[in-house]
Amino acid sequence: MKIGFIGLGNMGAPMAANLVRAGHDVAGFDTAAVRVEGVTLCATAAEAARGAEVVITMLPNGDILRKVAAEIVPAMEPGAVFLDCSTVDVDSARAVAEQAQAAGLSALDAPVSGGVGGAEAGTLTFMVGGDAAGFDKAGPLFDAMGKKAVHCGPSGNGQAAKICNNMILGATMIVTCEAFALADKLGLSREAMFDVVSTSSGSSWSMNTYCPAPGVGPASPADNGYRPGFAADLMLKDLRLAMQAAETADADTPMGRAACDLYARFVEEEDGAGRDFSAMLPRFETRGRG
Ligand code: NAD
Repeated sequence: MKIGFIGLGNMGAPMAANLVRAGHDVAGFDTAAVRVEGVTLCATAAEAARGAEVVITMLPNGDILRKVAAEIVPAMEPGAVFLDCSTVDVDSARAVAEQAQAAGLSALDAPVSGGVGGAEAGTLTFMVGGDAAGFDKAGPLFDAMGKKAVHCGPSGNGQAAKICNNMILGATMIVTCEAFALADKLGLSREAMFDVVSTSSGSSWSMNTYCPAPGVGPASPADNGYRPGFAADLMLKDLRLAMQAAETADADTPMGRAACDLYARFVEEEDGAGRDFSAMLPRFETRGRG
């Protein structure tokens, strides 16, 4: 397929490279000077979008997505697919989809989980909102860049699924870390804690797959000095999007709020910036109740 790819950063560059590897013809644009082997670089976003069957965006936030959409929607041909893989607020996802549909395009919001490692390995999971025809047309691209794509319903539902998942993840990681720090103070070894919890009702992805305690459980960022992985900064971004959506939808999310406030403190006032989101464990282990 002829693909336009806009936003060739940490995630976008390896995703575009996987599309090239799968035999697609990819024209790319980024405001920063980037190079991706096999991708033809264009001077503007509109140039990358012109004549493409599918245009993929992988951008930092909703404001930038809205700006790029205003440039590329008029350049795209009716029937083409606008596939946004960025993580943005639900309102921006729905606004951009409306604009694209009004121009005769299919619009999909398809945020991903799996991080830079998943983007490089082509094992991302896509959570997709938008029309079924667009979802089917983008199928081969999801296959080239990921291992799974779930159609979650109409526009905005991909973003909704992503922030709900990450709200669970943020709160669960925090409580897993505080439980390890409590267990330390109660004299329980971390190995015993892992062996019990990972096979009991307190088990979770945070404990079983991404254990925040170094040397315990499968290899994780904790074993690599808490280098991300999934950075605390990105967790904070997603929790803020979840809180924004909760406010708009009038949903009561006290655990999400607490997780958001704690990650904000960790990243903005303590030493969490640039560290993995599981570095909450060393944070708790040095603290008392005061
Ligand atoms: P990044 O900052 O590395 O990449 C974003 C790219 O967009 C940059 O190269 C930037 O130059 C480019 N850009 C900015 N404004 C632009 C414009 N107007 N036109 C064209 N290009 C523009 O970020 P990333 O880590 O690749 O993340 C991209 C998106 O994926 C974000 O929404 C992020 O939340 C989401 N995400 C990231 C991860 C991760 O682990 N990094 C995981 C899941 C989801």
